[in-house]
Amino acid sequence: NSDLILYTDCVLVNLESKRRYVVKDMLGQGTFGQVAKCWNMETKNYVAVKVIKNHPAYYRQGLIEVAIVDMLNQKFDPDDQYHIVRILDHFVHQNHLCITFELLGSNLFELIKPKHPRGLSLNNIQMFSQQILQALVVMKDAGIIHCDLKPENILVSSSVQPLIIKVIDFGSACLEGKTCYTYIQVFHILASLSWSRHYRSPEVLLGHQYNAAIDMWSFGCIIAELFLGVPLFPAVSEYDLLKRMIETLGAQPPDSLLRDAKKTNQFFKHVGSTYCMESEGVTTAFRVLTEEEYEERESKRPAIGKLKFKYVKLEDLIANYPYSKNMSKEEIRKESFSRVALVDFLRGLLELDPERRWSPLQALHHPFITGELLTCPYEPPSETRRKPIFDAVTVDHNPGWGHWL
Ligand code: ADP
Ligand code: MG
Repeated sequence: NSDLILYTDCVLVNLESKRRYVVKDMLGQGTFGQVAKCWNMETKNYVAVKVIKNHPAYYRQGLIEVAIVDMLNQKFDPDDQYHIVRILDHFVHQNHLCITFELLGSNLFELIKPKHPRGLSLNNIQMFSQQILQALVVMKDAGIIHCDLKPENILVSSSVQPLIIKVIDFGSACLEGKTCYTYIQVFHILASLSWSRHYRSPEVLLGHQYNAAIDMWSFGCIIAELFLGVPLFPAVSEYDLLKRMIETLGAQPPDSLLRDAKKTNQFFKHVGSTYCMESEGVTTAFRVLTEEEYEERESKRPAIGKLKFKYVKLEDLIANYPYSKNMSKEEIRKESFSRVALVDFLRGLLELDPERRWSPLQALHHPFITGELLTCPYEPPSETRRKPIFDAVTVDHNPGWGHWL
């Protein structure tokens, strides 16, 4: 095991600065190592220290995490306004890279878990969406793809209202660009595919080149999950995931994507001029199923925890989701309008064509976020291209970047 053994009151020391961190509790454990709640003896407050596994690939990726969060904090969010975790320190302790972050609270997965099978209120979802989008705007400006957005990587920063959340875990993040593609593939194999399947975009699944739009897909999956209380695509395999996407969204990825993707033939047969998804060894031409066929197919699926969705189509899933029992008629009427806005919002995020998927800035102007009345499907303002800021990254002291630039 390449994890450092941590016990209560053991001390992690930054030998250069002489800062000492006393381990008090465990906050989490992941593929990359452990996160401990520690007492900073110098500043006399609690912090979170991520102790990375003692393995060259993790060490290198850890340095990249440091460089990325540091850059996002300093250059793009100096006043801590955009919901990205703050990095405080990093050092090597007994051959383990340790990264000190501000201490945050529970993650969004833990927040919805006790509410099963119901999700959060639309008010809270709107508030969280806005905050995550602000973080995504900053990341896009910085040319950073998070690559692992999921409820476990979004943490509540204070428990007082209004709730503030922050995006954490840039341990899979990369710079937008070609190098990212090949390197992350290798790295993810090493990390035994920590990337949660449920939030993976169609272009990644199909082995197509990708960009920051993959984070918007994951974001859409998260928002749907916050509403439903369970994952939108609780897939048991990659094949199952693709099938669920196609059913729920009522369309398959565009031919242009299927044509260029490396893994298309693992899922599709090329018939004539179109692509048909293979099903149990038989090629079936793609079509949208009827209501009865949906129900029959759903009834054969294993139940997700206790909840079994009655509907598969996104619109039906959200419109027919049970209303809270203590809601008045007026509240239900209001919520039904908000649900229409939510579906329209999700449609732009869960767009199968990454080229047409909304950018964070475009999504920020959606009526679901602004609170305006949605009278017709939202047409986002066109995105003006921004100047790439790669040159803003300082690489001198960071061996990790050499690999990327
Ligand atoms: P990994 O890359 O292994 O997933 P993360 O950075 O996501 O590591 O941390 C793993 C878990 O540790 C998180 O899901 C969260 O529950 C907890 N955690 C991480 N950072 C913090 C923090 N700053 N404050 C509180 N808990 C944290
Ligand atoms: Mg994580």
